[in-house]
Amino acid sequence: MIELDGAEGEGGGQILRTGLALSMVTGQPLRIECIRAKRPKPGLMRQHLACVNAAAEVSGAQVEGAELGAQTLTFAPGPVRAGNYRFAIASAGSCLLVLQTVLPALLLADGPSRVQLAGGTHNPMAPPFHFLERAYAPLVQRMGARLQLTLRRCGFYPAGGGEVEAVISPADGALQPFALLARGAAQSAFAECLAPGLARGIARRELETLGQAMGWSGEQLRSGEQRQNEGPGNALLATLAYAQVTEVFCALGERGVSAEEVARRLVKEVRAYQASDAAVGPHLADQLALLLALAVWQSGQPASFSCSEMTEHTRTNCAVIERFLPVRFGLAQGAASSVVEIHRIPQE
Ligand code: ATP
Repeated sequence: MIELDGAEGEGGGQILRTGLALSMVTGQPLRIECIRAKRPKPGLMRQHLACVNAAAEVSGAQVEGAELGAQTLTFAPGPVRAGNYRFAIASAGSCLLVLQTVLPALLLADGPSRVQLAGGTHNPMAPPFHFLERAYAPLVQRMGARLQLTLRRCGFYPAGGGEVEAVISPADGALQPFALLARGAAQSAFAECLAPGLARGIARRELETLGQAMGWSGEQLRSGEQRQNEGPGNALLATLAYAQVTEVFCALGERGVSAEEVARRLVKEVRAYQASDAAVGPHLADQLALLLALAVWQSGQPASFSCSEMTEHTRTNCAVIERFLPVRFGLAQGAASSVVEIHRIPQE
């Protein structure tokens, strides 16, 4: 039984999600206490409960404490079953955090899976759909597996109603680790504004403000595709594609925040990434750490990546991963970027 303290480090929901993911992957039961102890409303929220229930379904787990507000959970997984799943979050909680929880297990399963997800697709504190599609999925592919994502409908807080389909195809054999230390040559950079159900002027103002700040124009400033029954909601996205990696940054519109301010928030994130020479930004860093650790564990070969910022979130995630897998993270912080190295611990 692996025991995790949910108050450690960042003290948020990521300790739970990474714990569930690796409990399923390794078959080791998990007990977690003080869940989300450092959040204003600690314990399992609807979104976390959806992750626990999805993990239980995929692995036939025996679970104690899966209740709203619970701060202690015991999770004893059975064998992971590839197949067809549908996970819906009734509120506008992020359906992509549910995918993040079950994906590692399904990537290592003995066959392909199709997962239909319903809920929020562009949420605060969660990977937006376009980030997973453009930044994350290509790195899964580089490891020899496949993650194909389709966005059927966007879902925003508070209405939700988004729909995503994920088709997950495990690798033939072990996942292959890699070194991702440089971005490579710049290929394209563009912004797009999703603003379904909102006044047209909002998208125009966001794109104009962003375009002026970044020096982007014409084809680089796009209004997102319109689908039926979406919104209301607003996400402004910036995609930066390089030869070795693509990064996607996102700012969400909210009541009381001007279109110009939404654009300025996004510009700040993009500039922080551009000011560094690292391959990946802060969010891709913590999600890549888990993927690469799985590949290092399976193959025995080392992996590394450089990131623009080493957040407390990434450090906490690495510490949780080390509790489950026989791998060690080496973190070297430099002036303009940090380098993360992952090695398998030699077995006696
Ligand atoms: P909570 O305790 O409320 O559940 P948390 O603190 O665990 O939340 P966050 O740290 O905000 O959650 O992040 C959740 C996950 O979403 C992480 O994997 C993070 O990398 C990812 N994420 C958050 N924002 C973005 C973003 N803009 N782009 C990509 N990924 C993101």
